[in-house]
Amino acid sequence: MSQELWEAAYKFHGHICPGITVGYRASMLALKLLGLEGKNISSTHTVIVENDVCGVDGVQFVTGCTVGNSGLIIDNQGRQAFNFVSKSGRGIRLALKYPLWGSNYPIELHQKVKTGTASEAEKAEFFSLRNERGQFLYQLSDEELFKVSEIELHLPGKPRLHPIAVCNICGEEVMRPWAVEHENGLACKSHFR
Ligand SMILES: [Zn+2]
Ligand SMILES: [Zn+2]
Repeated sequence: MSQELWEAAYKFHGHICPGITVGYRASMLALKLLGLEGKNISSTHTVIVENDVCGVDGVQFVTGCTVGNSGLIIDNQGRQAFNFVSKSGRGIRLALKYPLWGSNYPIELHQKVKTGTASEAEKAEFFSLRNERGQFLYQLSDEELFKVSEIELHLPGKPRLHPIAVCNICGEEVMRPWAVEHENGLACKSHFR
């Protein structure tokens, strides 16, 4: 496995953690199983991720399927599972079968860090545990990490570009479905918050 690519992936994410490791490894394995290693699959496949956390960056980095090119759908089920589906509807689902963290202790630290209640020592401990767990998961085999199954999933096409209106308050362009009626014209929703 390419050490350079892994380094670039976690640098893109910003740190090593269990999530980026799992998202990266799932995407690398999926491309291998699909016979598409090293390819950007955004024009032929859609990835549906079942969580909205760190691993999503690994998917975007490895597969080129992003929120922006509509190759990525976030269907948050709170699960470390990733579905890679071709336009024909056939695909594979990779679900993590190894414990992501191993205990709830690092997650409790994470919650303290995010809510601003962690001491400096607790912050340092969280960052260190996060890094260690990511490195630990990285050296496991694909078989230890993932359960793989074949799936069939037909995704309805959904246009993402819409006619443009000009807001009669700020003058900026806004896509029609997001505009609201305002004094015989249309305006951005944000002016009425
Ligand atoms: Zn992370
Ligand atoms: Zn406006």
